[in-house]
Amino acid sequence: MRTIVVATNNLGKIKEFQKLFSEDKVLSLKDIGYTKEIIENGKTFQENAYIKAKEVAKSRNAIVLADDSGLEVEALNGAPGIYSARYAGDHDTEKNNALLIKNLKGIENRKARFVCALCLYYPDDTYILVEGECFGQITEEARGSNGFGYDPYFFIPEYSKTMAELPLETKNQISHRANALKKLKELL
Ligand code: IMP
Repeated sequence: MRTIVVATNNLGKIKEFQKLFSEDKVLSLKDIGYTKEIIENGKTFQENAYIKAKEVAKSRNAIVLADDSGLEVEALNGAPGIYSARYAGDHDTEKNNALLIKNLKGIENRKARFVCALCLYYPDDTYILVEGECFGQITEEARGSNGFGYDPYFFIPEYSKTMAELPLETKNQISHRANALKKLKELL
């Protein structure tokens, strides 16, 4: 059993990683007492995942998995993108969702994708970077109460359900994070 530090305190993500890395000990930043703010000033999901993983791995001499993820909406030229968590207010899910729906008002093209970049960084400065995606459409009304963030508005045609209506087990098989992790596991 390995110990993997996941460079986040987002409980939704930790829960998903814990299930996906079921044979390993998964620790959050809080678990290891890491309180320093990490400046995510990359221009892409991959750059931000790399910045986070490297910083924590170097400071704690640990194997660190960092993710950076978000929603890209075709009709909004990829917004909210890397600004997904702070689209309308810092980590204010309700405001972020409200702004998304407002900006898409009257727009027919509702195509969107969730993107997740993952960086696994080792203390010897080697690292692996992968990206996963999950395609859907933005609904006008929220549906479902599972998941987090934009999930209640992210409709997946194959399941005729929003991400928030799917059980976590199903989300963990099809999500952008799950797809990125599958790629990562293939490379390990
Ligand atoms: P991060 O924590 O910097 O990666 O920002 C991710 C943001 O993107 C979250 O705060 C959510 O708004 C959004 N996001 C990422 N993954 C998901 C997901 O699985 N469901 C819903 N929203 C997500």
